[in-house]
Amino acid sequence: MQIESNFNLSKLNTFGITAKAKFFVEVNSEEELRELFADPIFVKNKKFFLGGGSNILFTKDFDGIVVLNKLKGIEIKEEDSEIVMVRALGGEIWHDLVIFAVNHRYWGIENLSLIPGTVGAAPIQNIGAYGAELKDTLYNVEAFEIETGLKRVFSQEECRLGYRDSVFKNELKNKYFISATTLKLSKKEKKNISYKILKEYLETNAIEIHNPKNISDAVASIRRSKLPDPKVIGNAGSFFKNVFINRDQLEKLQGIYKEMPFFEEDEVIKIPAGWLIEQCGWKGKRLGNVGVHEKQALVLVNYGEATGSEIIELASKIIESVKEKFDLTIMPEVNIV
Ligand SMILES: Cc1cc2nc3c(=O)[nH]c(=O)nc-3n(C[C@H](O)[C@H](O)[C@H](O)COP(=O)(O)OP(=O)(O)OC[C@H]3O[C@@H](n4cnc5c(N)ncnc54)[C@H](O)[C@@H]3O)c2cc1C
Repeated sequence: MQIESNFNLSKLNTFGITAKAKFFVEVNSEEELRELFADPIFVKNKKFFLGGGSNILFTKDFDGIVVLNKLKGIEIKEEDSEIVMVRALGGEIWHDLVIFAVNHRYWGIENLSLIPGTVGAAPIQNIGAYGAELKDTLYNVEAFEIETGLKRVFSQEECRLGYRDSVFKNELKNKYFISATTLKLSKKEKKNISYKILKEYLETNAIEIHNPKNISDAVASIRRSKLPDPKVIGNAGSFFKNVFINRDQLEKLQGIYKEMPFFEEDEVIKIPAGWLIEQCGWKGKRLGNVGVHEKQALVLVNYGEATGSEIIELASKIIESVKEKFDLTIMPEVNIV
């Protein structure tokens, strides 16, 4: 374990924003993590835990220590004829875990294929896509408390997973380092193909749906056609969360915008923020170094030399115009640092 100074983070965030960390360290094992927790530089400085950097926006240099999670390993903890408990360390790449699962014909996370980032960050915002969420399979989370260095196991309920949300984004924000997660996957066929776009893709391409690998490949192919690749153009996926409204608001808005899409689930009504942004004329718009992606209005992009502040400025303008047109407030999904 080696602590570096004045470290350039531009290659460690998918927005490709230039920012420096006063101190930087990579942790490769729990032993290194324990060693780090006792180090005076760690103890005295502000801390930031970094995975794949795919859900953050640096707006300035970080005046503290950035800890890059490189804890690797995937193991089967328990299994019977129906279920399998798979434990993965936090620095594993999320999609590698999906590949491990589908190659073994384990069901449960195939819809979450190709979501960038690490296993350790997945519970933070309860990653979700194509009608599935981490919540559907998460069994527990292992995490080290920063103040005491003690390890704690959080049950799924204790993680309080919600829509792009968890206890780690709220009361326990910056208080724990997530070192591992265990997922409960199914050996029995348990497909989830209710999501319209996925269902249509599987039908149109006559894909055999009794193998999670086929569903994973289908999700990956849809994603590649819709989302910009951060290696080509800097972005952090959806910049904004969808908006929850009540029935009165829905009726009022539908009176004006008859074609407005919405999803209803368990009494909750959700409006796609991408549609709201598109209606305000932002899709494909560029303002200097930053812009809104031409195929997906939820995604803000860095055309090369952008600063975090330029992205924030664009985001604020978008929030303002959505508020003005629809009287709805859209909120960032990305963590602003
Ligand atoms: C092209 C693209 C598509 C995307 N699509 C989706 C999608 O479909 N669904 C979805 O849910 N998300 C999506 N995302 C967002 C992102 O992939 C997820 O939020 C992912 O879980 C972030 O993982 P990460 O390792 O990159 O986290 P980072 O960006 O490194 O960190 C995110 C936050 O988690 C904290 N954190 C990271 N690791 C730890 C740890 N070990 N312990 C404690 N805190 C930690 C960080 O401090 C930060 O606050 C997309 C992003 C991109 C770029």
